[in-house]
Amino acid sequence: MARSSFTDAERRRRSRLAQIAHTQRFLRGTLSLRHGRCGKPNCHCARGELHASLYLVQSHRGQLRQWCVPKAWEERVRQAVRNHQEMQHLIEELSEGEWKHLLERKE
Ligand SMILES: [Zn+2]
Repeated sequence: MARSSFTDAERRRRSRLAQIAHTQRFLRGTLSLRHGRCGKPNCHCARGELHASLYLVQSHRGQLRQWCVPKAWEERVRQAVRNHQEMQHLIEELSEGEWKHLLERKE
């Protein structure tokens, strides 16, 4: 299939996909903010002001795994998760386009 046979919309999605893949971090997962107690008896959390912790959650080989994201890493992780979501979305749209191309050729 010649590259020129892609539609403009397909070309835009492919270049965006390549741009992210070439220049940015990406990571499959979801972020979950949880509130809990650290266990120290004199901490404010023991009186009800719970600690907020951000967790990165991912299904991996059929099991959930998670990682507590340190504050300093939060923006990097958020961006990587957003990038992966955008790539997934672009791949899905390209896949849908390919499905339609196949059907059109049958007609
Ligand atoms: Zn605490």
